[in-house]
Amino acid sequence: MFGRMVLAVAGNPAVRTTVTASPLSRPVVSRFIAGEDVESVLASIKALHDDGLRVTLDHLGEDITDAAQAQVTVGAYRVLINRLADAGLADGNEISVKLSALGQSLGAEGPARATEAVWDLAAHAYRHGVDVTLDMEDHTTVDDTLETLRTLRADFPRAGCVLQAMLHRTEGDVRELAVDGSRIRLVKGAYAEPASVAYQVKADVDRAYVRNLRILAESPAYPMVATHDPRIIRIAEQVLTPAGSESEFQMLYGIRTGEQLRLADAGHTVRVYVPYGTDWYGYFSRRLAERPANMGFFLRSLVSA
Ligand code: FAD
Repeated sequence: MFGRMVLAVAGNPAVRTTVTASPLSRPVVSRFIAGEDVESVLASIKALHDDGLRVTLDHLGEDITDAAQAQVTVGAYRVLINRLADAGLADGNEISVKLSALGQSLGAEGPARATEAVWDLAAHAYRHGVDVTLDMEDHTTVDDTLETLRTLRADFPRAGCVLQAMLHRTEGDVRELAVDGSRIRLVKGAYAEPASVAYQVKADVDRAYVRNLRILAESPAYPMVATHDPRIIRIAEQVLTPAGSESEFQMLYGIRTGEQLRLADAGHTVRVYVPYGTDWYGYFSRRLAERPANMGFFLRSLVSA
């Protein structure tokens, strides 16, 4: 309910303009965003590596309205991959890509164009030892995104995808995709979805998460357990054994950093989702919507300045 309300308010263009233009937003934004340019994100990656953590990198941006912007996104990822390779940071790391940043929703040709763009990007990434995972956006995009995934996997079998426990359909998608080595990031889901397609109560989402986690754990797939939820992490530690080999934990940059280190110290592979870039508003709004305390902190920082 709270999250739904925050996302509705955040969707208002006037709110967007006010928040993005205000320098007062920056201190709170920087808790969740690693930096605005490649150099600052490289520094963050090095620091995370020093702590024994891996990364998946998100060049921020989504819902483009002009097809030309897709090439800007592809170009930005290419520069990032080149810089990772130059700095010796490519191997074992990953990029996360939103297909709406590649024009997936731009007309009837959108999905095919986005597939072509992400294929080019994947070819570049895998040449440098960088994995690619497709983020999942709202429920209307799932079929197209999974279709793109099938195309990608024909040439890049390590290409991964995200599945959202909150959606009723996900259990079926998990069963279908949980084949040998299939890299599947399981999340709860960050979008405001209608009751016709998604669980509305947190306890139901949590239960669905655990059901899907158990299916993945018993399959030959490679589960990427993306959550900060202490109870689910405990369950995952029990069902995914041995530590570190056939699965990984993932968390967002700036959230539960102590737990990230604890899991890495226990021998698990831990990957931090590191967003960077100037187009941070959509990502930032979802982080505020996930937790009333974040919203309170944000509002207090504006008022007390
Ligand atoms: P919650 O029950 O929401 O949180 C559990 C606990 O974690 C909270 O009590 C709190 O201590 C901490 N916590 C959670 N969120 C926050 C926050 N914002 N700030 C501070 N503390 C917090 N969603 C998608 O829909 N598509 C994606 O492609 C996608 N990719 C993701 C990739 C990664 C690596 C991760 C970790 C999440 C991703 N998400 C994605 C977001 C996800 O769907 C959830 O919205 C988000 O992870 C919060 O849910 P939770 O599992 O942490 O559980």
